[in-house]
Amino acid sequence: MDRRNVVTVGVRRTGWAALDRDPQQDTVEFICPHCGARDKKNARRERALYHFTDGFLQDLQGEVTQCHSCKQSLRVVPIVMLHDQDETRRFEAVFSDEQLVTSN
Ligand SMILES: [Zn+2]
Repeated sequence: MDRRNVVTVGVRRTGWAALDRDPQQDTVEFICPHCGARDKKNARRERALYHFTDGFLQDLQGEVTQCHSCKQSLRVVPIVMLHDQDETRRFEAVFSDEQLVTSN
């Protein structure tokens, strides 16, 4: 298995979708495809690089990172930007397998 090609979808919450955490944080949340751990990284890419695709603002290039649990590298792509609860619900409907966004 070529681990450099392992990808997982990421979520970058902002505005109303991020009320439950420090607004100064700008992170991409993802689930490690190697070990299943819930992890996050600091968002590095400019928001201007996100483009509307399938109804969401997405970064289709993504970012490469390393899981904090298993230390394996992975690529977070696409990264979907969510601005409010409405988009969060739509994201959950479209990416229902990912279970990235907690509903509580
Ligand atoms: Zn991992």
